[in-house]
Amino acid sequence: MKYQYNTIIIGSGVAGMTAAIYLKRSNIDVMILEKEAPGGQVNRTSDIENYPGFTSIKGPDLAFKIFEQINQLEIKYNYGNVKDIKIHENYKEIVTDEDTFTCKNIIIATGRKPRKLGLSNEEKLTNNGISYCAICDGPLYKNKITAVVGGGNSAVEEAAYLDEICEKVYLIHKRDAFSADEKAKIRLSKSKVEILYNNEVVEFLEENGKLSGVALKKGEKLKVDGLFIYIGNIPETDFLQTAKIDLDNGYVLVDENMETNVKGIYACGDVVKKEFYQISTAIGEATIASLAIKKNC
Ligand SMILES: Cc1cc2nc3c(=O)[nH]c(=O)nc-3n(C[C@H](O)[C@H](O)[C@H](O)COP(=O)(O)OP(=O)(O)OC[C@H]3O[C@@H](n4cnc5c(N)ncnc54)[C@H](O)[C@@H]3O)c2cc1C
Repeated sequence: MKYQYNTIIIGSGVAGMTAAIYLKRSNIDVMILEKEAPGGQVNRTSDIENYPGFTSIKGPDLAFKIFEQINQLEIKYNYGNVKDIKIHENYKEIVTDEDTFTCKNIIIATGRKPRKLGLSNEEKLTNNGISYCAICDGPLYKNKITAVVGGGNSAVEEAAYLDEICEKVYLIHKRDAFSADEKAKIRLSKSKVEILYNNEVVEFLEENGKLSGVALKKGEKLKVDGLFIYIGNIPETDFLQTAKIDLDNGYVLVDENMETNVKGIYACGDVVKKEFYQISTAIGEATIASLAIKKNC
């Protein structure tokens, strides 16, 4: 069976796009499949200050710059929400919601999606007051009252970002200290954000189909126009069941070449089981995966 592409990359976050750049520059026939806009999580990041080459850059600007390289190199790019991967003797088949593609190698670069609080009307109120992206939706709450839930870097940084836009920002954290790094905590301490430690959102209050406030574990009710949830992420690996890829808690297990237990299937970026989830680590792993594919060509 002659396959359509040497390599198909699933996901066009920073990892997927980096792998595509390396493969295309090595003259390897590569195609990207993506279910949303290019950029992945960086599109949900306000300010990036630890990526070399930029003292500070907005996440969507970084995504756009990398996507410019994809276009300039004329890398094939297709919409597709991947639902399944089937392994055959000499090729692999990728099934999306609309199509089927065949290839020799696959790079899984599907990253992570935001963890939800899991309260009953969360789906209904998403985009009606509840958001997981301050840079995307923050401007909708200009001069309004918002709250952020979480205590890691993302929650602390995005609360400080919202403070520049909103009339009032609460930061609700279930513990008595933040796990965010020092720089983020200093930025927060310079803001007007009101911190509610040792508290949790237990109910979303709604009026006319929109979020109107939140009820907290300690009993009080806060009137808020918008709620931003940053309580961690979960890997996007639901589509890997048939292919029998080894996972740990949903994260893909890889060797030193970023290859999975299935020959010819690689993974890189936030979807991989590892210690540190950063843009620079995702890009480094994408480089390793694509160079390993080139070496085996
Ligand atoms: C709020 C926030 C702030 C952050 N700040 C920083 C920072 O300051 N510095 C830093 O280094 N890192 C930061 N990070 C982490 C960094 O953004 C990630 O480590 C990095 O972007 C991961 O890239 P990725 O390409 O592996 O995955 P992702 O960015 O998650 O991209 C995965 C892509 O795959 C697509 N996809 C998923 N499933 C499918 C499917 N079934 N079919 C087709 N496509 C699919 C998704 O739509 C997405 O576009 C931050 C993250 C967040 C959320």
